[in-house]
Amino acid sequence: MAGRSPIWVGGRLSVIVAAMGATANPMGAAVEPATASEDGVDRDRLVAYLDDLLDAKAGKDYCPNGLQVEGRPRIHRLVTAVSACQELFTRAEEVQAEALLVHHGLFWEGSPRQLTGIQYARVSQLIRSGTNLIAYHLPLDRHHTYGNNAVAAEELGLEGLEPFGSHAGLHIGYAGSYPRPLPWADFVARCHALFDQEPLVFPYGPQQVAKVGIVSGASESDLHTAIAAGLDAFITGEATEWVMNVAKEAGIHFLSCGHYATERLGVRALGDHLAQSFDLDVEFIDIPNPV
Ligand SMILES: [Zn+2]
Repeated sequence: MAGRSPIWVGGRLSVIVAAMGATANPMGAAVEPATASEDGVDRDRLVAYLDDLLDAKAGKDYCPNGLQVEGRPRIHRLVTAVSACQELFTRAEEVQAEALLVHHGLFWEGSPRQLTGIQYARVSQLIRSGTNLIAYHLPLDRHHTYGNNAVAAEELGLEGLEPFGSHAGLHIGYAGSYPRPLPWADFVARCHALFDQEPLVFPYGPQQVAKVGIVSGASESDLHTAIAAGLDAFITGEATEWVMNVAKEAGIHFLSCGHYATERLGVRALGDHLAQSFDLDVEFIDIPNPV
């Protein structure tokens, strides 16, 4: 996905969708798309579709998944992005989006519960502009088709993908292998291109990389899972102090490819899917973050 322009606009496919009738989603439930006579999409129907598609009620998370702030009931333009922040809200208003779909929403365990200061400014801006805020955190890391890790594993050309790296009892990452192992330098170049950012690497694994695990975001502790699984390389978003020595002593490659950068993939893939399934214009807004 590297090399795409920071913003792109999905096509309006209402005629095609209307001709297709109900859209079967990969989880098995049928969802009625918008009819040709009705413009846009009903907000609650879109959220119900996403909850079902992403199995959003499964497992524990650090935030509510689904609709976090209620705005206008009908959505014509949807902006996708990685992280909720005021710059994003302003840019979504500029393109007249009725809804935002993000990976990192606003209400986190341990963050202040009062609507004061920056949290007040953020929430009040959404309410004033009538912008819906829809957020999916771990469901959008672990999904088998649109999750950050499944998309990354696929784009890196890994085969035989298996769930990897569990979080509160559910796997959120993927591991796979190259039938013909890749030279280390080629593997790093592939990661650099995919995530559009130079990774921080601790190159202590084999010269030829065959078995790889990926867990997006801040999942350094899954390095231990990768070692136990006998992988050659482990990719995550962030690094912390101890990983260098653990990687060196275990003889494994560790790649920190960026928390933000590893979590751009899922929400973009999901946005493409929604643009094809509903009467929606979808734009991805990139607000790069080097962490
Ligand atoms: Zn994250």
